[in-house]
Amino acid sequence: MGGANSGEQSPEPLLIRGGRVIDPGSGFDQVADVLLAQGRVAAISRDLPTNDGAEFDAHGALVVPGLIDMHTHAYWGGTLLGVNADKLGPRSGVTTWVDCGSAGAATFEGFLYHVIRPSRVRILPLINLSYIGLTAAGNLSMDVGELHDWRFADLRELARMRDTHGGEIAGVKLRASNNACGENGPMLLPLAREAADMLGVPLMVHVGAAPPTIDEVLPFLAEGDILTHIYNPALGGGVLDARGKLRTSVRDALARGVRMDVGHGGSSFSFRIAELAMDQGLLPDAISTDLHAHNVDGPVFDLLAVMAKFGALGMDLVEVLRLVTASPATVMRHPELGRLGVGGEADLAVFRLEAGGDELVDSEGQRRQAPWRLRNELTVCRGQVLHSFEDGRSEGRHY
Ligand SMILES: [Zn+2]
Repeated sequence: MGGANSGEQSPEPLLIRGGRVIDPGSGFDQVADVLLAQGRVAAISRDLPTNDGAEFDAHGALVVPGLIDMHTHAYWGGTLLGVNADKLGPRSGVTTWVDCGSAGAATFEGFLYHVIRPSRVRILPLINLSYIGLTAAGNLSMDVGELHDWRFADLRELARMRDTHGGEIAGVKLRASNNACGENGPMLLPLAREAADMLGVPLMVHVGAAPPTIDEVLPFLAEGDILTHIYNPALGGGVLDARGKLRTSVRDALARGVRMDVGHGGSSFSFRIAELAMDQGLLPDAISTDLHAHNVDGPVFDLLAVMAKFGALGMDLVEVLRLVTASPATVMRHPELGRLGVGGEADLAVFRLEAGGDELVDSEGQRRQAPWRLRNELTVCRGQVLHSFEDGRSEGRHY
């Protein structure tokens, strides 16, 4: 079975004909042909000559950079919450999956060797402050958070991972909420700060039901760090105060350059709060799913469904696309990703834009009508056309 490094990459050029090519990072937006050859974008131009390679008819479709989902759980087989990114990527056009703390120091190498490296899609892992990561999270009959015992916050183990795999750790993750930390949240925040500084990577903190409150969390986030679940309706963890006003701590965080991530999740996205917060200036730097095993069959489904929710909130389509390409690439300090330009890596997705989308449901059961729906037609990741498992691939655990 082919992994990304198995030599499956086709030497044959692929000409993607006649689509609306949108590169939100550069502002490019034109009907054009795109020629992929030897793993790169060889040309973008009108009426490219037919070559002896394959052609894909994209007339009437959108051709965009491979999407980045900045909040996922992709440690399939190693955590209960993990979804199979290699199975879902080809259907949704998501070529970069930022995994938010599924693995801790105890389980990071399993993730790296058994999932990340063999995957066809790109997975950028944030390491959990907890030694055990999310091994037990999502087990509904075993209500033990990864930091209910503070001894799992072991900086020596994180230093060991830095020394062996530092270049492959994209950030540090702390789920700073009652379900993950019990009463320990406030004392774990400075440790998470120290861990991220020690690894030289961004710190992503999730907020939810207190403790700690969002006012306690935000002082530990600096420019370039990431707050996730920004439109969650949880008590104590929400961005709005009791009168519906954006909290001062959130305004201050925005002003100093803390990055804002949607992280929809099963219980972390409210249309009501998103509308109020966006009206007061809290816009996301990334539209993301927090996709995991308990929400992949709803209410999250995939990144395309979450993008359509921002369409339902009135956001312009090209801006929605920017928030799943160039913007999260910048946040993750990978400016080469989420781009579609000549000379860049062949990493893109083709979508059919269908008017009249679905009725979409948030975490509070509120409904909005989406104005459009994107249907994925082609996904190319790292120079390789990703075919669905349904096209003959088995979904074996060891693929
Ligand atoms: Zn998450």
